[in-house]
Amino acid sequence: MAKTALVTGASRGIGAAIANRLVNDGYFVIGTATTVEGAEKISATLSDRGAGIQLLVQDSASVIACFERISELARVPQILVNNAGITRDNLMLRMKESEWTDVVDTNINGLFRVTKGVLRGMLKARWGRIVNVGSVVARMGNPGQSNYVASKAASEGFARSLALEVASRNVTVNTVAPGFIDTDMTADLTEDQTAMMLARIPMARMGVAGEIASAVSFLVSEESGYITAQTLHVNGGLYAA
Ligand code: NAP
Repeated sequence: MAKTALVTGASRGIGAAIANRLVNDGYFVIGTATTVEGAEKISATLSDRGAGIQLLVQDSASVIACFERISELARVPQILVNNAGITRDNLMLRMKESEWTDVVDTNINGLFRVTKGVLRGMLKARWGRIVNVGSVVARMGNPGQSNYVASKAASEGFARSLALEVASRNVTVNTVAPGFIDTDMTADLTEDQTAMMLARIPMARMGVAGEIASAVSFLVSEESGYITAQTLHVNGGLYAA
């Protein structure tokens, strides 16, 4: 039976590209969306090679319901891609507490909840791959994104520590850190902001979601089995780690 991969936030952008790539790699892919309609669309797209499930990572009850649904499908994820993430940008001086907590609750507390849900199955199988989608800004910093940058830096630290806990069971935990990728998340930027960002990228272009999916595909594969606790940067040279 094909290995099962769980990809959070698979309804669009980077997560959709990852789900698509992993299906083409031969895995059974469970992709999540925040709405029932989004989940149904994923199911329709993946057909018999996967399924869509509704998931709100900031809500423990929703995470539990998602794992119950996965059990009903008689699937145990051996691959987890923690991709779901949000931004609520503001300068620190103006940032509301809700903007801080929304981002932390989704990007880092959510990652804790979902990862806990897959860990036991991976340890039992003595094989697992966890990839967190981080961000280049975790290393660079970014004005107006202190909440988001804090969450992405925390996610990298989480991956490094968890990797050390589970390495002896053949479970790897890594981060893929995208640079500036063309998705809905970056579509809100003004022309000036986009031009300023592009001027800083040596490759002089935004990345595309498929380029992140390629990196994830490698890190969940059999061949990457000796790579753990690492961050793979995919950013067109924007930042050299
Ligand atoms: P996106 O186009 O905004 O898509 C976000 C995805 O996450 C959607 O599938 C969305 O589902 C889901 N999602 C949002 N809130 C959620 C929640 N509370 N619970 C569960 N799922 C939720 O974003 P993207 O650009 O593809 O980003 C994907 C990941 O890459 C994020 O972790 C982001 O931080 C990271 N990243 C992006 C860039 C970039 O330049 N785009 C750069 C660095 C890192 P719905 O469709 O149902 O809303």
